[in-house]
Amino acid sequence: MAKIPYTKIRNEQVTVTMEIKNTIDTLNGFLKAGQILFDVPMSEHTTFKTGGIADIMVLPGTGEEVAASLKVLTQHAIPFLVIGKGSNLIVRDGGFRGAVVKLSDSFARISVSHDTITAESGASLAELVHTAHAHGLAGMEYAGGIPGSVGGAVVMNAGAYGGEMKDHVDTVNILDKDFNILQMRAQELHFSYRSSALQKNGAIVLSSSFRLEKGDVQKAKERLNDLNRQRREKQPLQYPSAGSVFKRPAGHFAGTLIEQAGLKGFTIGGAQVSEKHTGFIINIGGASSSDILKLISHVQKRVFEHSGVALETEVKIAGED
Ligand code: FAD
Repeated sequence: MAKIPYTKIRNEQVTVTMEIKNTIDTLNGFLKAGQILFDVPMSEHTTFKTGGIADIMVLPGTGEEVAASLKVLTQHAIPFLVIGKGSNLIVRDGGFRGAVVKLSDSFARISVSHDTITAESGASLAELVHTAHAHGLAGMEYAGGIPGSVGGAVVMNAGAYGGEMKDHVDTVNILDKDFNILQMRAQELHFSYRSSALQKNGAIVLSSSFRLEKGDVQKAKERLNDLNRQRREKQPLQYPSAGSVFKRPAGHFAGTLIEQAGLKGFTIGGAQVSEKHTGFIINIGGASSSDILKLISHVQKRVFEHSGVALETEVKIAGED
């Protein structure tokens, strides 16, 4: 598609398609300098540290800005991808033709009222748990070491060490496909293992409220420290990754099946099945998304041949080859 010069807010020039120029002109009507970025390497926004260039990245600061931005993108037929911390995401090496809407630090306010803590989607889980403790609330320690955003965690029904989001979510404010902001109750979200209705209906999570208990915060902090120590001991946290790549198949552990198929340490390019935790694929240096995706396919094939179990990815895949 033909590209034309476009002057960015800080007077640098980039080339963009006519559609994107028109879209940016409209977004500039309500977003401030620094909330629209151009030619953004997705390797800087995914914990795998891989992925090509996104045409534009939008960083909304309020629910209204999320709604208005997505409406403009839709009206201009610009594809969009909403992300949080990119910790469960592979963006292919061709990048993303369209707009990545990142809900992160500028959309991360947390408030507490009685036993309820409410967080905008860009808040980190670590900050959520930390703030809960500061207000004498406990119960979500299992989530404190998951490196995702609150929005991404609710969509994924993230969990660990016997707890998951569905245990504590009370209400969620979402943006529906018609750009209405609605409140949904936990029971309407049909949470199941690493899944929720939000993955199917395309709703965007703006903020989430969690019901916690007044508890022994000292004990809760000790549990959090203990769980984080277990993560450091068992997970290859010194390498870029997206955590466990595959969902746990019924009656099995993905890591065990992978190890039994002889794939511990198996490497394609810069992507490796971790020796420390075979459920993790790690970027040992210079991996491309293509290396990771080839390794995922190889693992699925070999595990199926060896045990007859079809491994399903937990990690989400987006973008172009
Ligand atoms: P992203 O990766 O940014 O997005 C994930 C998906 O959610 C994408 O499809 C995206 O489009 C969508 N999405 C994101 N935000 C929104 C939103 N606001 N509204 C609608 N859709 C949205 N996960 C666990 O469950 N348990 C663990 O113990 C765990 N350990 C991990 C350890 C490591 C070292 C790493 C790197 C990852 C781990 N993960 C774990 C995976 C990951 O952290 C979680 O899935 C997390 O909840 C993803 O949040 P995110 O903000 O990074 O989402």
